[in-house]
Amino acid sequence: MLKIPMTTPLVEMDGDEMTRILWKQIKEELLLPFVDLKTEYYDLGLPHRDETRDRVTVEAAKAIQKYGVGVKCATITPNVQRMSEYQLHEMWKSPNGTIRAILDGTVFRAPILVKGISPVVKNWKKPITIARHAYGDVYKGTELRVPQGKAELVFTDQGGNVTRKEIYDFECGGILTGQYNKDSSIASFARACFNYALATRQELWFSAKDTIAKVYDGTFKAIFEEIYEKEYKAAFEAAGITYFYTLIDDAVARVIRSEGGFIWACKNYDGDVMSDMVSTAFGSLAMMTSVLVSPDGNYEYEAAHGTVTRHYYRYLQGEKPSTNPMATIFAWTGALQKRGELDGNEALVHFGKKLEACCIRVIESGTMTKDLAALWEGEKPNIVTTEGFISAIRKELERQ
Ligand code: NAP
Ligand code: MG
Repeated sequence: MLKIPMTTPLVEMDGDEMTRILWKQIKEELLLPFVDLKTEYYDLGLPHRDETRDRVTVEAAKAIQKYGVGVKCATITPNVQRMSEYQLHEMWKSPNGTIRAILDGTVFRAPILVKGISPVVKNWKKPITIARHAYGDVYKGTELRVPQGKAELVFTDQGGNVTRKEIYDFECGGILTGQYNKDSSIASFARACFNYALATRQELWFSAKDTIAKVYDGTFKAIFEEIYEKEYKAAFEAAGITYFYTLIDDAVARVIRSEGGFIWACKNYDGDVMSDMVSTAFGSLAMMTSVLVSPDGNYEYEAAHGTVTRHYYRYLQGEKPSTNPMATIFAWTGALQKRGELDGNEALVHFGKKLEACCIRVIESGTMTKDLAALWEGEKPNIVTTEGFISAIRKELERQ
């Protein structure tokens, strides 16, 4: 069979544990037989990150800036226990955090829907994509526990002028937080959301609480509004999609009543909480895809889940685990389609779509990994190992 040619390489970032095993199986069974796969390979597995003193993560992020599209396997974010397990030189930072900081990106998470596994919310028919602003706010807050006394907000500008505002005159002990965000980061977030809405032709909602946080959330609202009016309104109208701002509580009510099929842009904390709510209501973390989009149009695709450590230890003991590879396969298909789109390579776009359709057909016909079997509403499911699932997809691909 003639393999589909590629012109520009994908930036391929390998990872850790169970997902590293899935990565290899997916490539060998579902990609290499069909595509003349061109990648620039970066090994982000923890041992190699440690060997290179994490330089490899920075190099991979720069390669995404050079080529525009990357695909990433899940990776371990080291903690104290991993330090001794892998005898690390340092507790390296989260690779996702490093890459996100370099690309200045926004993360979009969307579920993969299949017939036979219904969302908990009955009227959800299409995916809901959450765009989370992954910068600042409470995650970079400065906190204090204080006794009785007066708390003030003090700002000194470059000229030495001081602005003061009383926060609270404490008559008893209490707590305080200082939070910040930057106009530049909010603007990048807004542009990433508008670009992604256009690229996927979906409505964009943005929610905050500007009635209460008039300056803080009010600034988010104003920056979104200004960028929309100046840079995106015409393109949105031409694409037949809409943008609107609404209060977070109104957004929550609308989301529950909706059919899905839109992007919900959230501030950092809201996105953290709401993405867990939305992904659980759609079914399984193993069916959640994730893409990092930078304001200048670079894309990094990955699964939303981690390295599935528990399954990996069982695998090391000789068990054949039933780990769900869907989100990792969809990271590849997302990246291949985007690469194809940018290179005008229709065969590659078509292959990405076809592979996705095959995966979904396999599940809908009743063959699935263990995690999905628990949610399955059809007749008795055929529960398979990861290997069995991937080979069922391979057969389906070859049948086409
Ligand atoms: P996890 O790898 O997402 O797994 C948590 C649990 O969720 C698993 O034990 C499994 O439950 C279930 N699960 C997740 N993905 C699955 C899949 N594809 N198929 C079937 N079940 C799946 O989270 P974690 O155990 O908290 O973290 C493990 C490592 O991943 C950590 O070192 C963390 O730093 C890293 N991590 C990386 C990323 C990333 O690179 N994007 C994201 C999150 C975490 P059962 O055991 O009940 O079957
Ligand atoms: Mg969370």
